[in-house]
Amino acid sequence: MSSKVFHVVGGGPGGVGAAYAAGKLGVKPIIYEAHGALAVKPCGRGVPLVGDLPFRVPGSVVLNRIRFIKLGVDGRWVFKAGGLIDGVIVDKGGFLEHVIAEAGGEVFYRARYDVRRGLVRVGGEVLEVKGLGVFAGGFPYYEGVKAPVVQYVVGNARDVEEDTIEVMLDTRLLGYYYVFPQGDSFEVGVGGFASFNELQALLDKYMEKDPRLSGAKRVVREGAMISVGGLRLGYVNGLVKVGEAAGYVLPLTGEGIRPSALSGYTAAKALIEGSDPIRALERAPISRAVRVQSSILDWVKTLSLEDRRYILSNITPEAHAEVALGTLRLYRLIRGLKIKPSIALRIMAIVLRG
Ligand SMILES: Cc1cc2nc3c(=O)[nH]c(=O)nc-3n(C[C@H](O)[C@H](O)[C@H](O)COP(=O)(O)OP(=O)(O)OC[C@H]3O[C@@H](n4cnc5c(N)ncnc54)[C@H](O)[C@@H]3O)c2cc1C
Repeated sequence: MSSKVFHVVGGGPGGVGAAYAAGKLGVKPIIYEAHGALAVKPCGRGVPLVGDLPFRVPGSVVLNRIRFIKLGVDGRWVFKAGGLIDGVIVDKGGFLEHVIAEAGGEVFYRARYDVRRGLVRVGGEVLEVKGLGVFAGGFPYYEGVKAPVVQYVVGNARDVEEDTIEVMLDTRLLGYYYVFPQGDSFEVGVGGFASFNELQALLDKYMEKDPRLSGAKRVVREGAMISVGGLRLGYVNGLVKVGEAAGYVLPLTGEGIRPSALSGYTAAKALIEGSDPIRALERAPISRAVRVQSSILDWVKTLSLEDRRYILSNITPEAHAEVALGTLRLYRLIRGLKIKPSIALRIMAIVLRG
């Protein structure tokens, strides 16, 4: 390890992806984290394993293995399918700590970076953050469109499967209700284009109507925003923006752990190797996935509720998975878009442009 250090503001997936690249390339990562612990922000903690993560997910942090997805549209279940996603629900804090340890990184907790002045307080000392590094402070620093999410951690839901994630799409909200298993408990939430209060009322109603969830014990209620407006690349005081701060969330699904980690990894690798990090980010496959989903979301916003429902209910489970995961393999998409040719062509055009 050289005596050089790599600065990372924020100990979420974006910062940790960068720390991992730095550590593997022989530069010690120093992480400045505002909170006293990692992964404080609410999160469903679902990570699909599509083979693109730069680091391993160790078995010790896996709370649930996900083999099935159950998907519905506007209150009606459309399919339950296996073999489309292989995913995990993780102990997010434990996972991030594991990756930092593998990278030989050091975390300073309760070390809030002052964006206006470019300074951070570590213990009693105020330091200027200068040199190679990334800014991964998350959604509060994102300058595009954000959508709220509210969720309950539910203690004792009956008959909810531990290897399945449930997603009920809502064409009006342009969002979805979800039930994610999480060890002994479940997270039940909703995200979309509405206010926090509206989402809260809708979630309560959704849970009341489901006999499995209506009597369940609600342990925690939490909420946060998700950056769904596409990429906003750039710098904060010379640090490259990565993760949600730069829009690394798949806008149709809200998946941000994998995109954020990939963006951090890509930017840090480019910086340390002496190439242009913004160019490297623009060219990364995960950026294409965000761009494509962003364009699909913009297009879907222009459609009637009937057209939205028709598309979401009629494309095959395989096509849902290709778009949702951002893998976008054309041969699988073409086979899966068994809908009116004009609509299928529109989707293909967006994917090809991405
Ligand atoms: C309710 C909800 C459910 C979600 N479910 C999923 C899911 O199941 N799967 C998935 O992939 N994604 C999910 N997401 C999205 C995912 O949580 C985020 O996209 C992802 O964590 C973003 O990573 P990040 O590192 O960019 O930001 P964050 O995870 O927000 O991390 C930023 C870190 O920076 C720290 N920080 C902030 N400001 C400063 C500062 N000034 N100085 C120092 N440190 C600072 C914060 O304390 C935080 O630790 C969900 C989001 C929400 C709101």
